[in-house]
Amino acid sequence: ISSLQPDTLSAITAWYRRVRLCITISHCFVGRHMGNSTINTESSGADRTGVWLVGAYGNVATSAIVGACAVADGVLDTTGMVTERPPCTELELPSVDGFVFGGHDIRETTILTQAKTMAQDGTPNPAIVEAVADELEAIDQAVERGTAINCGNAVDTLADETLDGDLTAIIDEIQADLRSFRERHALDRVVLVNLASTEPTLGGTEQYATVESFEAALEANDPALPASSLYAYAALDAGHPYINFTPSTGGSLGGLAELAEQNGVPHMGRDAKTGETLVKTALGPMFAARNLDVLSWEGHNILGNTDGKVLEDEENKAGKLASKGDVLDSILGEPFHNRVRIDYTPSLGDRKTAWDYIHFRGFFETEMKMQFTWEGSDSALAAPLVLDLVRLIAHADKQGLAGTQPHLASFFKSPADVDEHDLSKQFAMLSEYVDRHADDSVEQSPPRKPPAGEWL
Ligand code: NAD
Repeated sequence: ISSLQPDTLSAITAWYRRVRLCITISHCFVGRHMGNSTINTESSGADRTGVWLVGAYGNVATSAIVGACAVADGVLDTTGMVTERPPCTELELPSVDGFVFGGHDIRETTILTQAKTMAQDGTPNPAIVEAVADELEAIDQAVERGTAINCGNAVDTLADETLDGDLTAIIDEIQADLRSFRERHALDRVVLVNLASTEPTLGGTEQYATVESFEAALEANDPALPASSLYAYAALDAGHPYINFTPSTGGSLGGLAELAEQNGVPHMGRDAKTGETLVKTALGPMFAARNLDVLSWEGHNILGNTDGKVLEDEENKAGKLASKGDVLDSILGEPFHNRVRIDYTPSLGDRKTAWDYIHFRGFFETEMKMQFTWEGSDSALAAPLVLDLVRLIAHADKQGLAGTQPHLASFFKSPADVDEHDLSKQFAMLSEYVDRHADDSVEQSPPRKPPAGEWL
């Protein structure tokens, strides 16, 4: 695809869209007469899902939007999406083709500008950005001004214009934005995903342990409540499923968990597990299972995007360090030297490098060591998981499930209400969910093929 000129790719995309429309129309027609079998990855006339991204102009949000449009247009395959392989393909999940995007941000820019800036570093591919440019411009119409209350100096420095004033008035505005988005697009449900910059850690949380105390804090314009929890309240109070992809407080407060249960809304967080921590939770159980004694685990991360710049601020970094460091404690048990560092290296852009050094001891007290280097594209790893989480939380919502969703633990560094950090055991929880909810009528289709010239 990289060898195609943007004009050629646009022409192919337009042609593909026309063909896809014909196929969809004929598929619906055949479906009515053939028992309505559903192909997992295709639009099936099923629910229309709105995806509301807080931090809509960020790298992860932009990549998720570009990726979803490109998958829908048939110019990108679904590599990296967990829901596009078994066991999740046994579930009847909403199709990415039918996602409608909107969101909040605090900066003045456009999704297309952000996508083009990212494409200069190669991810996403410039030809793909060009192919979906019209769709990105249309989505910009649905990005509204957000609030940056208690997000720290690093975020204040980024912000152009924000919602301020009484907390209840801010929540009313956020809810009005969600309501008008849902009505305008006739959506069956709207999933809110927090993809905003990481906030400083909230000091005490006990005073927000119930719905009553949280709402009292709102009424009193509590000076400590962070923006992420205001967005979470706005979503859960209005019945919208909620995902916290970041280490920020978001929906983790007791009062918000109670609200979700009361309103019958599913939610899950916190801090998506996309790179170094993913490897740690796969590798840690190996040392434990072989009774090898880990003496030290040093993890040093360097990254150069805006996320890295915000995490340069010690206040904003604190939450991220906690969620990256804590995963090994429950897996390895015995106390050991466990340290994580995160540093901003501007020239790296969206490419994150993690170097991990594991010093361990075996039989005869023999000391050994293992080192690995992980070099990932932060947003290419995160974006498909955003799409997965939207599909899965929308599914849970449709099943009438409320509260935290433990089967989504494998997606998070600090999974809400789940103490298990072992990656394979977390995957087993997802498989058990699929076993409980598998839809026999879902026809198994192979993952979408890459858009090689011959295929198009
Ligand atoms: P980014 O800095 O590129 O984007 C953040 C966006 O949020 C920016 O557009 C910013 O203007 C906006 N924003 C900040 N505060 C806001 C607020 N209060 N309301 C609305 N918008 C706000 O960061 P990113 O790389 O896209 O990462 C997004 C979040 O996801 C970060 O918190 C990051 O820690 C988290 N995360 C990322 C990964 C990954 O692999 N990339 C993994 C886990 C978690």
